[in-house]
Amino acid sequence: PAVDQAAEAQVRADDRTHVFHSWSAQALIDPPPVAGGSGATFWDYQGNSYLDFSSQLVNLNLGHQHPDLVAAIVKQAERLATIQPSMANDVRGELARLISEVSPEGFTKVFFTNGGADANENAVRMARLVTGKRKVLSMYRSYHGNTTTAISLTGDPRRWANEPADGSVAKFFGPYAYRSAFHAESEEQESERALAHLEQTIILEGASTIGAIIIESVVGSNGVLVPPPGYLRGVRALCDKYNIMWIADEVMVGFGRTGQWWSFQADGATPDLITFAKGVNSGYVPLGGVVISDRIASHFDTVVFPGGLTYSGHPLACAVGVATFEVFRRDGILERVNDLGERIVAPRLAQMAERHPSVGEVRGRGLFWAIELVKNKDTREPLVPFNASGADAAPMNAFAAAAKKAGVWPFIHFNRTHIAPPLIISEDDLIRGLDVIDEALNVADGYTE
Ligand code: PLP
Repeated sequence: PAVDQAAEAQVRADDRTHVFHSWSAQALIDPPPVAGGSGATFWDYQGNSYLDFSSQLVNLNLGHQHPDLVAAIVKQAERLATIQPSMANDVRGELARLISEVSPEGFTKVFFTNGGADANENAVRMARLVTGKRKVLSMYRSYHGNTTTAISLTGDPRRWANEPADGSVAKFFGPYAYRSAFHAESEEQESERALAHLEQTIILEGASTIGAIIIESVVGSNGVLVPPPGYLRGVRALCDKYNIMWIADEVMVGFGRTGQWWSFQADGATPDLITFAKGVNSGYVPLGGVVISDRIASHFDTVVFPGGLTYSGHPLACAVGVATFEVFRRDGILERVNDLGERIVAPRLAQMAERHPSVGEVRGRGLFWAIELVKNKDTREPLVPFNASGADAAPMNAFAAAAKKAGVWPFIHFNRTHIAPPLIISEDDLIRGLDVIDEALNVADGYTE
């Protein structure tokens, strides 16, 4: 990439003066100016390019500037750039049909939103209206978005400064075998005990008050926590027993991230509502939505659904969604995610876990993995404290700086780094990126005790 100091100075000046950034103290940040991107790589104005091991915010599943996705936007823009949601539109309908075709039987309708938070917001609204029950259960260690109900459902520190928001929410512990809340010693025990705990929570919160349980099918930004076998089937059974709607939040893990269209499919369980965003069109134009089971959809056959958005099912966004399906099928994306995950990532991370004193656990599926860093493998004390910032976060920042210096942009959250590259990453780039992570872990090793 070319060096362009003047352009960089302008980008930085405009950004620092005028752009108010997410989740930040505005004076304490220095957002890196990005000049361009292609595939799994993006670059700055200083001649540095980075392999994106985070797929931006785990949304860039088909990589930067995918020619088919860009062409779909251009073509749609020339035909019809926008049309309001109460009219019928070809690409909107086609995308809804394609999504329904990869969903479990009986999921025929899709409500489109602008992103993940409003998808969850509307799924909760549907569950509340259908059951007549208002409370929603969600997990500690979860993220569901930044609107009022979605942030209330969120089980991580991003919720704290927003409380109290939607008060009709209660939290429970999900399965996390490495740091089991249930003193479990096997995956099987973890699954059983997590389900027993969930049932206790339902009973104590009052089944007659609970309309929905929302679960990330694989917990994303809070740790790539793949549920143990049987857990989601157990959630299904509890929801049936107590007339509760199960909302599968597939915003981060839907559309191939873990090697299937939907991550809940791995456990052979079927939710009542599926929420999606990110990977549906790699975020080229904002889009999210709710896939609705017929039982819930039919409730609104003759009863008005009291919700809507100006840009619901935006044609530019939907056209990229349709193109996404074409690319997935033509290029065998799901197959390659499973292949690369099993053949390259899993064995390599297992080696890192053996070699590095700082690696407590590696876990994941497809092209979605976490490396959990610890001070000490025996005590499992995290390398940095929960919600670490500033000086406390220094070990993770040093690790990230080493990876960036060697050309890999890592995803960091507390004491974890995640491996979540675009699903189109070449095998060579994937191996090169893993080499860099392996090397950067030497820096983390320096902070172990
Ligand atoms: N749900 C999950 C699991 C997510 O990871 C995210 C975003 O990271 C959201 C919901 C919110 O999506 P959005 O930022 O598009 O509103």
